[in-house]
Amino acid sequence: MSWLPISLNLQAWPILLIGGGQVAERKFRLLQQMGAKISILAPDLTPLLREALANNAFEYIAGTHEKLTGMEKNYKVWVSATNNSQINSDVAKLAKVDGTLVNVVDNIDLSTFIFPAIVDRNPVSVAISTSGLSPVLACFIREKLEVMLPKSLGRFANQLAKIRNRLKQSGCTGQVKRRVQKQLISDYFTGHSSLCNLDEADIAAISKRQTVAPKHGEVILVGAGPGDPELLTIKAMRILQNCDVILFDNLVNREILEYARRDAEVIYVGKKAGACCNKQSQINQLMLDHAQQGNLVVRLKGGDPHIFARANEEIEFLADNDIKYQIIPGISAAFGCAASMKVSLTDREYAHGCMFISAHLSSDSKDDVDWEQLAKLKTTLVFYMGVSKISYICKQLLANGVASDTRMAIVENGTMMNEKVYYGTLDYFYKNPQLVVNVCKPALLFVGNVLQFYDRGNDATSTTSLQPSEYSV
Ligand code: SAH
Repeated sequence: MSWLPISLNLQAWPILLIGGGQVAERKFRLLQQMGAKISILAPDLTPLLREALANNAFEYIAGTHEKLTGMEKNYKVWVSATNNSQINSDVAKLAKVDGTLVNVVDNIDLSTFIFPAIVDRNPVSVAISTSGLSPVLACFIREKLEVMLPKSLGRFANQLAKIRNRLKQSGCTGQVKRRVQKQLISDYFTGHSSLCNLDEADIAAISKRQTVAPKHGEVILVGAGPGDPELLTIKAMRILQNCDVILFDNLVNREILEYARRDAEVIYVGKKAGACCNKQSQINQLMLDHAQQGNLVVRLKGGDPHIFARANEEIEFLADNDIKYQIIPGISAAFGCAASMKVSLTDREYAHGCMFISAHLSSDSKDDVDWEQLAKLKTTLVFYMGVSKISYICKQLLANGVASDTRMAIVENGTMMNEKVYYGTLDYFYKNPQLVVNVCKPALLFVGNVLQFYDRGNDATSTTSLQPSEYSV
């Protein structure tokens, strides 16, 4: 970021406007709306500015910009608003020498500060800056926010400040104070209540409800989706913004954690190096400890918590320990990757169903899947955790009668910036194992003829005469 939006105390920092013409007039109106203390330095004023002067709307210093030397002691913020580029450039030079903050209207190169687009709900204000690159974009965003933020937000903020003071005096804990305020804010934004209608008794009742909050907290198993943060559900996002503790897995895209409440405790519990714990029993204990301290704990899992994510083990443990829990579903990797390939996993002609299979257990042991049964089904097969088992999977499917020209795809880092799709036939992947040795994790394997639709969505060459050179492997 090269321009930091900061909030200036307008009472402590009077603003010196240089110029008395049309440009200055426009800037004056804006600054006046913001409640700034304004002085204007100009040899002359427009009729409107003269009228405002008659109403004591600003202090007038008659003269040209040559008078500026020495004025930096009383005026530390200058706005040069003339249509004379020489004067604007002289003002900027002088400001630089004196270390004064200067804004030159419509000239970012000469300015040391710029005005953001503002959504004003005094005392709440939202500043939007594009670092001067696109004022039109800033205005567009402002219009969106204008619609989103209720007009009564300022009044609400003032009332909330009073309630905050009362809560402080009541001596309740920081956690209760925060919960009461969050409840009030959430009720306000969902239209459930307006603070204007709340009297002392209502506030006392809300505080009491929050003070006697359950001794145990709660654990929420949240699906983080396959990677692209925009695939997070609104519910997951809201919970991340309200929780106290987050226990997250290796598959969770770190960008998603940026949506979490700033002061939430974030703990990595994945299997890679650097984790404080990675055994299921240790993760369970962490969930329990934090919930028993009254925290709202998010157990954040890649994809969907119901798919190969040990959710049942965690649910059972939480239930056994009398901890309240809920599950927020997420988009499983299969759906994210299918969307990337623009392929439907079921199809009236090619696949009557879709099966999610863990390749983790695939081996020659008794835990292996029933390949004979699998091969008979007219379904799309999706293998999770199968990267290192690609050859074995191909071999078993072929040996059990799946047609050698059945389409197969591998999607690596699905839905992320570095996503890669490898596409071919079962036979082709089986005969060319060297082509997939470099597939990175996480990756998903798809087998089934619905995959021929990948060609259509991706402008690939004809599917009838696939040659190795045409594959994206
Ligand atoms: N609960 C997760 C799956 C966890 S098992 C879900 O619903 O998606 C972990 C396996 O999921 C990985 O080994 C990989 O096969 C698959 N996977 C997860 N994220 C993926 C991604 N972004 N791209 C491709 N495969 C992914």
